Amino acid sequence: MDIEPVNIFTVDLEDWYLTDDYLIDKSRFNEFERNLIQNTEIILELLKVSKNKATFFVLGKIAEMIPSLVNEIISEGHEIASHGYNHKLISAMSPEEFKIDIEKTNCAINDATGIFPVGYRAPYFVFLPWMIEILRENGLKYDSSINIRWLNKWKDVVNTVELGQTNNFSIFPIQNYNIFGMNIPNCGGGYFRLYPYKIFKALFDKSINPFGMRIFYIHPWDICNSLDKKQIKLLSRFKNFYNTSSTINKLERLMEDYRFNSFREYLEK
Ligand SMILES: [Zn+2]
Repeated sequence: MDIEPVNIFTVDLEDWYLTDDYLIDKSRFNEFERNLIQNTEIILELLKVSKNKATFFVLGKIAEMIPSLVNEIISEGHEIASHGYNHKLISAMSPEEFKIDIEKTNCAINDATGIFPVGYRAPYFVFLPWMIEILRENGLKYDSSINIRWLNKWKDVVNTVELGQTNNFSIFPIQNYNIFGMNIPNCGGGYFRLYPYKIFKALFDKSINPFGMRIFYIHPWDICNSLDKKQIKLLSRFKNFYNTSSTINKLERLMEDYRFNSFREYLEK
């Protein structure tokens, strides 16, 4: 008998004005804060109505600047995990800088909520082998940064920390749909906006990571992006804005079609 896959819903809680990519004056943050809060509240409402649970990978900067939003997520029964402090690319950091980034994020989340996160997802789904030891040293228990198609590249490292659920540290890779040697992304974000819902669902149904999981991810800005279109290049415009108007309707359908858990619920089972 086939075992039913576990569906994990994740939100990367971030917005452009809180990242290193766009340096704007702090005094302008509240112009854009409302959009981030509204989008997050839409996701929270959809999760509530459909009785699903999620893991929110939160930027440390958001915990620092909008602690009420992070606490609202907790009060709805969802998990708060770490997405680093301000979405800096890990490959642009030294291990020492990464350690500081993780500590700073842990502190920001703890100051805002009284809890320390146990999960981590790197910005841009970057995975570097030396991350794991630093995450472990800082009390984190799992990572969901790696795309399954990179597993072979890091096979030796990943084997040493054991994939899946262990007592010490778990790595939960996001899946792709593999057909004729091609990896077709089907976890969420821009791809969720790009594909018609039925196609997304067909791809999502078919691909399961080695731990019997289907991992879905979304950003608040996949619902409505406050970035000024004119300031960015055409390709970025496509990546950031394409079909955002379809996101709410697709999320509603997705949440009806699947039972979603947070990583915390999965680990506690
Ligand atoms: Zn991110």
